[in-house]
Amino acid sequence: MFKFSCNCTTGKGKKKKQSAPFSPVDLWPLIDNKSFTNRYLVIGICPNCEKHVVLLVETRKSDGVKFEDEQWEEKAFKTQERCEKERNRIDYAVPTGKLNGFVYGKNTGWMNKDGVITTTKQRSCDWWGNTTLIKTQRFNKH
Ligand SMILES: [Zn+2]
Repeated sequence: MFKFSCNCTTGKGKKKKQSAPFSPVDLWPLIDNKSFTNRYLVIGICPNCEKHVVLLVETRKSDGVKFEDEQWEEKAFKTQERCEKERNRIDYAVPTGKLNGFVYGKNTGWMNKDGVITTTKQRSCDWWGNTTLIKTQRFNKH
């Protein structure tokens, strides 16, 4: 599972060493923009020095190349503020624990040619792009 690494140190003298990597505190799925898809923001706070960190992950639509941009402190706050507007708040589902790391739910509605939603697929997604289908629900046709 992904962990952030801070360059701060713990201990003194000979016991001084780099602080231990730490787990993120939150993950925000973000809406697609013009050029990028599979976007999310990973947020962390160093438990040792309390520095704020974010990792913006996005995949370029044109060639599928994945970008990761890690920002600390002031820049992290600015990136997070910007992403707040792009946060995808639709339907967080309860993760099932099949995927490792941070997992979020994603519900997709499938429409028929008349524009009526006939099926919903509930998926559990982790932030490396892995997806597990939890359940498919079909609506009765009338
Ligand atoms: Zn630190």
